[in-house]
Amino acid sequence: MFLRISDMISRHQVFLITAHERLDGDALGSELALFHMLRGLGKEVTIYNQDRTPENFLFLAGSDEIVRELPPLESLEVAFILDCSDVARIGKESTRVKLIPNLVNIDHHVSNGGFCDVRLIDPQASSTGELIFRLVRDMGVALTAEMATCLYTAILTDTGGFRYGNTRRGALLAAADLVEGGADPQWISENIYEADPPARIRLLAAILPTLTIDEGGRVASLAITQKALAAAGALPEHIEGLVDLPRSIRGIGIAILYSELSDRHFKLSLRSKGNINVERVARAFGGGGHTNAAGCQVDGELPEIRRRVLEAIRASAPES
Ligand code: 5GP
Ligand code: MN
Repeated sequence: MFLRISDMISRHQVFLITAHERLDGDALGSELALFHMLRGLGKEVTIYNQDRTPENFLFLAGSDEIVRELPPLESLEVAFILDCSDVARIGKESTRVKLIPNLVNIDHHVSNGGFCDVRLIDPQASSTGELIFRLVRDMGVALTAEMATCLYTAILTDTGGFRYGNTRRGALLAAADLVEGGADPQWISENIYEADPPARIRLLAAILPTLTIDEGGRVASLAITQKALAAAGALPEHIEGLVDLPRSIRGIGIAILYSELSDRHFKLSLRSKGNINVERVARAFGGGGHTNAAGCQVDGELPEIRRRVLEAIRASAPES
């Protein structure tokens, strides 16, 4: 697979890189590392994303060059679709991206059905960043400090700070090599986790009273309404990571964050501990993700959605 991808790179000149809507550290870190690599090889590269880059990732070199309008399709030879289990995850431009003559998918989601001919998919990889790291190594490209910083960010964020079940040997070895290559763990963590605007903490204060514990202490959830978001002066990007809070309670196996993005439209973030599978739960609502971290979007009223989700959790639990 590495060979097909490096072939694709050497045979073409003009590249598009894109990832899923509602960007996270893995999507951005992977995009930017690949961007620096291709630029270094003398290629013309554009990163297109539907959504804007969350503020805490603006420290990544090259983030100021990301565009939110797709370049003219005729000019593009190859599109790299990163961290997406499905082309639709790109967002509103997914049907146009599909028209680009050569598509390459690099991803680590279990739910990836293989929508691209040329692909590098490994659900055992901690992150798409870890896969880009393997590609860099396989191609024998020199790792710059910029690339190392982007890839470390990808691995750090998708493992929840090296805590989730996907924190395996490969992730840690890659992280060590990236530190040797110039990534500074303290500086990167400070930029990502210790640079919140006060509005995010105000939002946190407002949603803490919504803490709900169900299923005899196994499921904990928080809920964010549009009203709470507006009252705190917070943006949807500030929701990222708040699901870790209910997950931190002892004995909790599943944590859920219900976020109302628009009227009667909720985004659900699901997290689990150990071998409890929340991907199956998210999939029951048309979403997906990984065993310990998944998401989906659901329309309706919160109490009803909650009831349906708890039902899906019960249905997906292995017989005991
Ligand atoms: P988060 O809760 O951080 O938004 O997402 C956790 C994981 O679930 C990520 O790997 C993300 O790609 C995946 N995910 C989140 N929302 C969706 C969704 O609506 N559809 C699918 N297929 N995956 C999602
Ligand atoms: Mn990822």
